[in-house]
Amino acid sequence: MVSSRGVRHDSMRARNLAVVLATIHRSGPHTRAALAERTGLTKTTVSSLVADLLEAGVVAEGGAVRGGERGRPGVAVGLSGHRVAALGLEINIDYLAACVVDLTRTVRLRRVRPADNRNSDPAAILEGLRALVKEITAEAEEAGLRVIGAALAVPGTVEGGVLRSAPHLGWRDVRVAGLMDLPGELGHFEMDNEANLAALGELWFGAREPDFLYVSGEIGIGAGLVVRGSLFRGTFGLAGELGHVVVVPDGPACRCGGRGCLEVYAGQDALLGELASVGDLVARLESGDREAEQACERAGHALGVALTSAVHLLDPGRIVLGGIFAPLFRWLEGPVSEGLGARLGQMRGRPPALVVSGTGGEAAVLGAAGLIIQQILAEPAQLLGL
Ligand SMILES: [Zn+2]
Repeated sequence: MVSSRGVRHDSMRARNLAVVLATIHRSGPHTRAALAERTGLTKTTVSSLVADLLEAGVVAEGGAVRGGERGRPGVAVGLSGHRVAALGLEINIDYLAACVVDLTRTVRLRRVRPADNRNSDPAAILEGLRALVKEITAEAEEAGLRVIGAALAVPGTVEGGVLRSAPHLGWRDVRVAGLMDLPGELGHFEMDNEANLAALGELWFGAREPDFLYVSGEIGIGAGLVVRGSLFRGTFGLAGELGHVVVVPDGPACRCGGRGCLEVYAGQDALLGELASVGDLVARLESGDREAEQACERAGHALGVALTSAVHLLDPGRIVLGGIFAPLFRWLEGPVSEGLGARLGQMRGRPPALVVSGTGGEAAVLGAAGLIIQQILAEPAQLLGL
């Protein structure tokens, strides 16, 4: 039986480990003496905590540390990317993706498997994803990395660890964590909506600005609002369903049951028409194809209308276009800016900056891995078993 005193001691230690690690993470390498000064902990306590963090490979001693000098108080201790890593996963309509990111948020491994996941059997797709996990974690372990947890980005709404609805996959109420049944330390499993994780991916791996509205163009259109470096999720975690903001009240029927939603005009299906891929659309646009240009003008105009409402509600300083909107940015930028500028001109000095995502198509899978890294940094004792 653990005494209450033991519990108190353990929780205080866990908190102190988190404080020391947060200081190193926020402000870079520190000597043990500087850490003691900044955290208000004694030098003895700091030395003991740093020893455990070193042992777990979370931090490393920087500079030219020669044999016999390890542990010398003058040596700076910084975050280490050599040992601890996290797994990011994504189920998209057209592919499965995985990446391994280390503690310094450096991408170490990445995999993308093309797949047709429309109206699919969850068990079969998750089986494929598990095979991908096995392959990439084996490679990570060969590289000396300890992969601690996994987060999965899904194109649907997530509530209490259950994938409530992913209409394009044809999934409802799927208990993904149970079906995935990941082994060992990967058992620390998180799942969130693709647009939410993509917004975090943009925050940690893209422009790294603390305030923006991320707009994710996929088959559906989602948005993630980042405020002072934190994701705004809404009361039920369902904020950001931009694709179902009404652009034309009596417009064509949408799969959500409404009419004239943004998705009907600017979702992937509307943009591609008969074309097979975004690459095909870009090729047409580059050759000056009028029909392709008109599809982008229509989509950009609708996006400008929907974003005008979002700007009035949320007042973001920047709007980041990601997903399939990133490769199409050249052709969308004009119509979207026009729509935004024309509608916001009377109310504001200028519309928010409209920029392209800096993460290519990888924002969601990177954000997933980044989420676990953030959790390890916040709770090293719990997640690393220190
Ligand atoms: Zn809709």
